[in-house]
Amino acid sequence: MARFGRSGIPRRTAEELRHMRAAGRVVAEMHAVLRDAARPGVTTLQLDRMARDVIERRNATSNFFGYHGFPAVICTSVNDEVVHGIPSDRVLLEGDVLSVDCGAIVHGWHGDAAFTMGVGSISVEAQRLIDTAEAALAAAIEEMRPQRTLGDLGHAIQTVVSKAGYGSPRDFCGHGIGTAMHEDPDVENRGRPGKGLALQQGVVLAIEPMLIAGGGDGVRQLRDGWTVVTADGSLAAHAEHTVLVGEHGPEILTVP
Ligand code: MG
Ligand code: MG
Repeated sequence: MARFGRSGIPRRTAEELRHMRAAGRVVAEMHAVLRDAARPGVTTLQLDRMARDVIERRNATSNFFGYHGFPAVICTSVNDEVVHGIPSDRVLLEGDVLSVDCGAIVHGWHGDAAFTMGVGSISVEAQRLIDTAEAALAAAIEEMRPQRTLGDLGHAIQTVVSKAGYGSPRDFCGHGIGTAMHEDPDVENRGRPGKGLALQQGVVLAIEPMLIAGGGDGVRQLRDGWTVVTADGSLAAHAEHTVLVGEHGPEILTVP
């Protein structure tokens, strides 16, 4: 079982981390397959099928499928959709901004990661949004060290996002992850340096900045009960990794 550190965030054992790395590798393979396949003319449901194939091939299971009734193994969020888009017969078009979020379970341990990419060639402004989401994630990952705090993570994200002139929703955030996809604590995309729970070696968090190109924090949910879109109709981007506070610095677990 997890050992709870002084901070209250579970610290994972070496054996638990072996399983989490294995789950992370499956997620990374799903990302690689989908990045390669997402082009004009492909439907988001076709991408979901490809992701299912990876999960089956690796003898993993999906933590997305059936989650509160979610009907797919990936979330596909296009253009003004921020997160939780449902794969469908929607055809991807040249210039679309596509976010894919997915996860996998191996031996009961979870991985969770997301990326945003352009479909075909996209506008300079859309690419800047995607690059900023990745930069915000990288800045937070750099804070995944002992004695840094959740406030440090949130502040790192907020600094990159606001400097670029973008906003992010308040109601969605990163999270602890282990034997469930979503565990305590919340990992907010904003924060004050030095505030909040402190990190210790062995802590694993899913960090996931979500960006709104138009600025502000306004989002609303569509009537499908899942898809979250920007209130102003502007583009959105989402980047996520599952990350360990490692012995020798931050270690991204959702990599090949
Ligand atoms: Mg995710
Ligand atoms: Mg997540």
